[in-house]
Amino acid sequence: MSQNVYAFTEGHAGMRDLLGGKGANLAELCRLGLPVPQGFTITTQACLDYLKDPKQGLSTDLKTDIQKAIQELEAQTHKQFNQKDQLLLVSVRSGAKISMPGMMDTILNVGLNDENVEALAQMTDNPHFAYDCYRRLLQMYADVVYGLDSQLFEDRLSQARRKEKVTADYELSSQALRDLVADFKTIYQEELNFPFPQDVHQQIYDAVEAVFKSWNNKRARVYRQLHDIPDDLGTAVNIQEMVFGNLGPHSGTGVLFTRHPASGEKELFGEFLVNAQGEDVVAGIRTPQALDEINQQAPQIYQEIESLANKLEAHYHNMQDIEFTIEEGKLYFLQTRDGKRTAKAAVKIAVDMVKEGLITKAEALQQVDAKSLDQLLHPSFTEENLSQAELLSEAGLAASPGAASGAIVFTADKAKDWAEAGKACILVRQETSPEDIEGMTAAQAILTCHGGMTSHAAVVARGMGKCCVTGCHDLNVDEGQGLLHCGDRLLHEGDSISVDGNTGKVYLGHVPSSPSKAGADFEALMTWAREESRLAVRMNAENPQDIQTGFDFKAQGIGLVRTEHMFFQAERLLEIRRFILSSNDNDRHAALERIAGYQEADFKAIFDLSQGQKTVIRLLDPPLHEFLPQDEQEILSLAQSLELSEEALKDRIQQLKEVNPMLGHRGCRLAMTYPELYEMQVHAILAGSRSSQEAGGQDLKVEIMIPLVSLAKELQLLKQRLEETADRYLAEHQMTLSYKIGTMIEIPRACLTADQIAQDADFMSFGTNDLTQMTFGYSRDDAGKFIHQYLADGTLAKDPFQSLDQEGVGALIKLACQKARSAKPDIPIGVCGEVAGDPASIAFFDAIGLDYISCSPFRLPIAQLAAAQASLLNRA
Ligand code: PEP
Ligand code: MG
Repeated sequence: MSQNVYAFTEGHAGMRDLLGGKGANLAELCRLGLPVPQGFTITTQACLDYLKDPKQGLSTDLKTDIQKAIQELEAQTHKQFNQKDQLLLVSVRSGAKISMPGMMDTILNVGLNDENVEALAQMTDNPHFAYDCYRRLLQMYADVVYGLDSQLFEDRLSQARRKEKVTADYELSSQALRDLVADFKTIYQEELNFPFPQDVHQQIYDAVEAVFKSWNNKRARVYRQLHDIPDDLGTAVNIQEMVFGNLGPHSGTGVLFTRHPASGEKELFGEFLVNAQGEDVVAGIRTPQALDEINQQAPQIYQEIESLANKLEAHYHNMQDIEFTIEEGKLYFLQTRDGKRTAKAAVKIAVDMVKEGLITKAEALQQVDAKSLDQLLHPSFTEENLSQAELLSEAGLAASPGAASGAIVFTADKAKDWAEAGKACILVRQETSPEDIEGMTAAQAILTCHGGMTSHAAVVARGMGKCCVTGCHDLNVDEGQGLLHCGDRLLHEGDSISVDGNTGKVYLGHVPSSPSKAGADFEALMTWAREESRLAVRMNAENPQDIQTGFDFKAQGIGLVRTEHMFFQAERLLEIRRFILSSNDNDRHAALERIAGYQEADFKAIFDLSQGQKTVIRLLDPPLHEFLPQDEQEILSLAQSLELSEEALKDRIQQLKEVNPMLGHRGCRLAMTYPELYEMQVHAILAGSRSSQEAGGQDLKVEIMIPLVSLAKELQLLKQRLEETADRYLAEHQMTLSYKIGTMIEIPRACLTADQIAQDADFMSFGTNDLTQMTFGYSRDDAGKFIHQYLADGTLAKDPFQSLDQEGVGALIKLACQKARSAKPDIPIGVCGEVAGDPASIAFFDAIGLDYISCSPFRLPIAQLAAAQASLLNRA
């Protein structure tokens, strides 16, 4: 049987899995000879064993092990449980492998009861202290062990403060504290029908059990979900001799960071409370003093703190967050851990520590949370501004980061008009469609009531680096009436709202935002990341501004140009509509020629910017009916432009309508039935490259990508046809150009037959948006309706559209890679779906040996850093 309990003297920092972060670090502090109160850690495994069947309570074996550890602790400290003249009291504290500050439970002063509290008062000659400890135990125990409402206790405390006309608990008289203890005990009796347990061993067992259970409390589960922490780690429990910061004016307790957690400046930063215990500093009831005041009052203690803090930082190679207590002038460290910090501070600290010779570049790269870089690259709302704002909804998904305020508009046209008139606006839609593209460009942010993380709005907004919240299902747009419903609340066009793309929340009114803050440290870190990364990182982009942004972030080429995004400007839309709707070949042909002209100019612009890097152009993907109008007014005006009867137009729209367009006539299937579409595009690609080369462009590396292939035969036929078109063009213009034709792998059947498909593919790129959709059978656009519940109840650990489902979709990708490489060992393979910007997914793609990832320009730094971290991890 595995060991349930480890004394601090038995462990070390490498035992986080078993001892949790706090336990492992306490053991390490002991090993380093720092002043640490002694104790022991009950393992995470013991917690997991307990959680299998909590109704059974703690096992007899575990209780025996706890008893033995207590006896050893008694011998070490020369104190004893329930021994009146040398009373041992302990803290019982949670500590998971990955720190989850404040999410799980802690109880201090365990071991006190009615009898020994009196002895403690006499022994210390300090009844105020003894009864303060006891009332705290009664309060914490009630909350943690029995789940009693803490307000019951807080109300009595405020009554006592009012009665004695004091503002802080520590100012209460000893008599008041004694009375409070009596009052608190009455609450137990009234609420539970039994008294507070006087048996100190029972107290320990109850506390341990409660801490085990707190692993599964709601806030801990939510925190784990937010921070991608697995649910099956369990928490360790640390039982540690109490030292007392509430013994009087020469005692106190505090928290410090070895560098500033917000700015990253190299300075001790902390807070301290005289005559206080444990949670008082974080609880915010009293305003703490700055750490510097210790320097004024007790400089030798400050120096000791400073030198030990520096020692710990050098030892851990990371900024530390340290809890300490001073008991009658003697300093103790109660815990140390890597400190939480803002993204700005993280980058500065990592780069500074490399410059100081404290850590290597590899360590610096691993210290920064890749996802947090979003905070640096987009505007955000400060906590302070948000605290004054009124929340409208928190039901939405944080689809694209950023923070923006503006007036509500319900149509893309309005967004365009208002933006042109210099008015900031937020485009609020039930869901967006490709026709909204110009309005989306014009708006400060996009908010939709439907749709998930890969819905049209989300994908397009991320591509633009624009703030976007999707799937805000408690809002409802009534476009006709120009109203936005949120429960009973009604908002009108022009009302001001603020959208937080970093959290998915929406606020009423204007909330000021702070601009992005990348700087020299950020540039240095990103350079190291690019040097370290094995995966090449390309961008998904099609318009010149986004492409420029991508190259500013040093993208290694363009991994996905979605050509349909070029079709939605008004004059082009008309031509594609003409192509779809005209009844004679001449008109269709003429329309196609005009579209080719537009595309050629677009491609030239892309190649001009491409810096001689690989550029993957994907041929048309969405079903044709997406280009057709939906509302009456637009249908009418289109009928007039095309000189068709309204009836005929409606009939044609009806014919093109599909029950399930995502699985319908789209992608390469369009080209199988309308070959001229892809031929026109390939022609335009070559014409665009020719103009770019003639204008002095660098050697171009053009890669043409065919979407939605499920049969090797589709690719074979289309590739042959397109090569003929291309070669004819090249011969006609006596031009040389190295071009490749490859395919997207985004259908499960394509994965299973990737060896056959590879025969005709010069390269492959996984489209994980469609592959996830089709593997799960979840519609990309409708999954928002149930995914949030699946996530809330743990049915799904993560949204598979945001972070690759490694077991399912990932297994298909891995298999497809193996098959493709068995047929063509050197075939370049990448991924261009949304998960290519997600760090956990990137680690997977690196591990299975993909060659590149491609994501929207504003996510490049995250992807580059995550790719570097993946290289370091997978190489290790
Ligand atoms: C995909 O399916 O992952 C992809 C990149 O293509 P799209 O999102 O345009 O369907
Ligand atoms: Mg796709």
